[in-house]
Amino acid sequence: MKTNLPLTCPCKLKSNLLRVEGGFACQNEECEHFRPDDIFPIVNEIPVLVSEKRCDTVCDEGSDQTYIERPLSGFSRLKKMIVGESKTTKANCSLFIEELFLKNIKPKVLVIGSGEKGSGTEELWNNNEIEIHGIDIYGSSSVDVICDAHYLPLKGGYYDGVWIQAVLEHVLEPTLVVSEIHRVLRVNGLVYAETPFMQQVHEGAYDFTRFTVLGHRYLFRKFESIRMGGNQGPELVFAWATRYLIWSITRSRKIGRVFGLVVGFLLRPVAYFVSKSSMFDASSGVFFLGRKSEGNVLTHKDIIQLYAGQM
Ligand SMILES: [Zn+2]
Repeated sequence: MKTNLPLTCPCKLKSNLLRVEGGFACQNEECEHFRPDDIFPIVNEIPVLVSEKRCDTVCDEGSDQTYIERPLSGFSRLKKMIVGESKTTKANCSLFIEELFLKNIKPKVLVIGSGEKGSGTEELWNNNEIEIHGIDIYGSSSVDVICDAHYLPLKGGYYDGVWIQAVLEHVLEPTLVVSEIHRVLRVNGLVYAETPFMQQVHEGAYDFTRFTVLGHRYLFRKFESIRMGGNQGPELVFAWATRYLIWSITRSRKIGRVFGLVVGFLLRPVAYFVSKSSMFDASSGVFFLGRKSEGNVLTHKDIIQLYAGQM
């Protein structure tokens, strides 16, 4: 277990935790987790800071037993070779790191949803000068705390950066998660979010929301924008659609995947011809890189001005 995690109780009080035998206890007497029979356990060296008593959560306190080793599965390695990784994510990752080092010597970054390292994030994970804390709702070798992102069990104003990729579609209250990101970041801290736009449901029951570039920008209205836009264009959206169409006809997920890969591969060259503006209207995902600023909140009218699509 990392020793320098800025842990707190996940409940609203965000009280300090006390290391006790078998786990962590809340130091606030008014909290259920103050009681010895309600302490937060540590499983496989990972603190499980999930509170079903204090928070409305999809996580089970008992889900602490899940520990998943997910080295790139055969399929995603194949997919990476055939369809390729997003150049946009890689470029954004480089810019995120560059911005981090402008004001910090050994920046601290929180990765939300770190159970599986995101595609295009090697540069972040491989940088030894960056201290990364990873959280997810299950354990893995890249997870330091198991918790629900709606209720981050972490001290406010601590992090220099937060990375949240392919997570916001899986939370029921994205605005609450973003307010938690805002809270744990120090002033001028960076956030990078990448979220699906034109993609089908991909984690079964745990998939709730999609965002356009502008909807996503508004979600981060308390942040100053550094860069935002669409991630991977209509050609990939077409491949996704083929995959799900074939799946729905054949009832076979595997056959759908094969068709999706073939179409994705054949349409790869098309990426060079699609317009930049189509990224606002028909991209596969959207991204936002921004900085926590004091007082600078975007209005509804401000958002309208930002549209740069084809219409
Ligand atoms: Zn508490």
